[in-house]
Amino acid sequence: MKNFDPQYNDIPKTEIHCHLEGAIRTQTIIDVARQYQLKIPAYEVSELDRYVKVYDQLQDLTAVLKAFDIFQNSIASPAIFERMAWELFEDCARQNIKLFEVRFSPDWAFHGHTVDWDASLEGLLRAQAKAEAELDMVIGVIAITSRSMGAESCVRTVDWAIRHRQHIQAVDLADGETLYPIGDFVKPILKAKDAGLKVTIHSGEDTPASAVQATIQNFMPDRIGHGIHSIEDLRVVELIKEKDITLEVNPWSNYLTNSVRTIEEHPLKKLFDLGVKVTINSDDPEVLETNVNNEYRIAH
Ligand SMILES: [Zn+2]
Repeated sequence: MKNFDPQYNDIPKTEIHCHLEGAIRTQTIIDVARQYQLKIPAYEVSELDRYVKVYDQLQDLTAVLKAFDIFQNSIASPAIFERMAWELFEDCARQNIKLFEVRFSPDWAFHGHTVDWDASLEGLLRAQAKAEAELDMVIGVIAITSRSMGAESCVRTVDWAIRHRQHIQAVDLADGETLYPIGDFVKPILKAKDAGLKVTIHSGEDTPASAVQATIQNFMPDRIGHGIHSIEDLRVVELIKEKDITLEVNPWSNYLTNSVRTIEEHPLKKLFDLGVKVTINSDDPEVLETNVNNEYRIAH
């Protein structure tokens, strides 16, 4: 649930794990569908919400990835992408987020309508400049390479990010960790690192501590998206600390995707007590109907 309780809203906050593709307002999807004559299951917010939001715990991660089809289809032009970015920045400012990092997968996001990558980035940067000037926040940009799009896509995305490294701070390897072998992505990700980009990897979300260990050994990332299952092996927890890796934790997302069975079992506090650098984030605030304030409330 969206939460604007002053108890959490008044705290100046950061959000460093948020997918733009999962942060598109339902009304915006409807507006875009009308403007571009796109077919969507419903044209009223309350009706469409039933298709684009996850309210209850899912059986596995694949189901939530399916819910993204409608989002992908709504990214119809660079101008629309700019609007979506601006609206996300507005939603962050409403929660008193002072440092925000937005991430998106260009190959995935712009796939549906063959939207131009560079023009879309320019749109996002305009929204970023406006938000930094008007909303009292600073914004970083992370380019995602999606495992499901394959190794070639990873190479293309990394090269694109390197070309735009003046504006893009990091790359992220995301989605379906169980389905795609790590080996395909090591070379391009290390190339990004060599070029001076920071690296974050989705790992240990619905996979065991051994996956986090392999991620660290192969990529030596600056941060890990989720990483919660590292708690199952204290040697991996020690490795995270030793390498000074920050975890981008998304409590409600982990519950909804069934990466933790109950929210009470979530290892956020345990990891914190063990001395791991943990941060609290929303992951996909529109799909998962949450925000950072709500994540703080849950953690509290
Ligand atoms: Zn994520």
